[in-house]
Amino acid sequence: MPQRRTALITGSTSGIGLSLATAFAAKGMNVVLNGFGDPVEIESLRSRLAHTHGVEVLYDGADMSRQEQIEAMMARTVERFGGVDVLVNNAGIQHVAPVDEFPVEKWNAILAINLTAAFHTTRLALAHMKFNGWGRIVNIASAHALVASPYKAAYVAAKHGIAGFTKTVALEVAELGITANAVCPGYVLTPLVEQQIPATAKARGLTEEQVKRDVLLAAQPTKRFVTTDEVTDLVMFLCSDAAASITGVVLPVDGGWTAQ
Ligand code: NAD
Repeated sequence: MPQRRTALITGSTSGIGLSLATAFAAKGMNVVLNGFGDPVEIESLRSRLAHTHGVEVLYDGADMSRQEQIEAMMARTVERFGGVDVLVNNAGIQHVAPVDEFPVEKWNAILAINLTAAFHTTRLALAHMKFNGWGRIVNIASAHALVASPYKAAYVAAKHGIAGFTKTVALEVAELGITANAVCPGYVLTPLVEQQIPATAKARGLTEEQVKRDVLLAAQPTKRFVTTDEVTDLVMFLCSDAAASITGVVLPVDGGWTAQ
């Protein structure tokens, strides 16, 4: 019987990443969980996923802004599972401020977590994928990988960067059974978006309801938030054998936002 595949999803204690980790476990894959949160809740999530789906689930709390912690997480994963077959670079943070007031430490953190971390995980995951002649890399980018919004200089720069990184990796491994794609959600109502609503309200002098209606959903022709399930289903398809010829794409799941 072939060895069970392993999916590592960065930032999988919340939002889109948590939905993805659940879906990979439900597919019968071993899962590496990563992200911050209450240790008791994370352990209960870890054991629930393992027991419900009969798979092995490893939690590693590596801070994606720290190269040495990423390297240690990847080494632990190799030791436990032999390597990563499906890598989803999902961990991300946001900060909203005008560019001339943008805190330098926030810029550095956003570039490190939303862009550079994916370089480190990818470079360390590829040896195993190359050896097996099979691998899937999915980078959770954003509609902001394709278009900009004011007050999000670091996020937009990092997400445009990950689009270019994805295409480059895809070209380098195209003949080796490995695909690399970027998924670009529009607004999904996760904690990441919920926490930026007050900041956007302050930056633009609006109420929080006005921000939801006139700023966030104004960009989305469907006039509703994208769901975590919609993003997850797309990622699961990209990780299937049916998607073997889809590589190097920067694919919106954004309710028509970037069609405008
Ligand atoms: P979220 O805040 O619900 O989850 C983010 C996850 O990343 C959490 O598990 C958190 O603990 C983890 N994380 C944050 N900093 C970390 C660090 N330094 N090291 C390790 N883990 C860290 O956010 P989400 O909305 O689910 O976002 C997931 C991804 O989707 C992000 O890359 C985000 O940019 C992208 N995205 C989200 C939306 C949206 O509207 N929610 C839209 C487009 C793209």
